[in-house]
Amino acid sequence: MTVLPVLTWGDPRLKKNSEDVGEWTPELEQLVADMLETSLYEEGVGLAAPQVGVNLNLAVIDCSCGEDLNQRIVLINPEITAEEGIQTGPEGCLSIPGVREVLDRPQKVTIRNRARDGSWHELTGEDLLARAFCHEIDHLRGRLFVEYFGPVKRQYLQRKYQKQSRG
Ligand SMILES: [Zn+2]
Repeated sequence: MTVLPVLTWGDPRLKKNSEDVGEWTPELEQLVADMLETSLYEEGVGLAAPQVGVNLNLAVIDCSCGEDLNQRIVLINPEITAEEGIQTGPEGCLSIPGVREVLDRPQKVTIRNRARDGSWHELTGEDLLARAFCHEIDHLRGRLFVEYFGPVKRQYLQRKYQKQSRG
């Protein structure tokens, strides 16, 4: 398994709409393994394929940060089908290191997700998992979480991020 370089805020590849995953291949399995390794190494809860420069509707989530293999979820061509309630809490992104901001998300989220074999399943997540579903699916639509904020706050966050990334 390889830790992949993660694209950062400002890279135009993070703004693209991703394409659906077709037939599952050994290359995709390798990509998923590398993405899980990268997310773990960077201490993230999830990682979307566009963040490693792959323009596909594919993401990994592990709310246990490597503690529990059963919590590993591979999102393939996922779509949100239902949302319920609101949670308020901090959110961060491996593509924007050093920035964590409070963002409202639905408390409970249901998605329609494809399995490797092509079958479709419904998954429901609450709290952190619901937040992760929203965050990763946003990546697949070319959206970063900082884009929910207004221009003034976004500029402030950008300065904070640039300061941080210069060390
Ligand atoms: Zn992210």
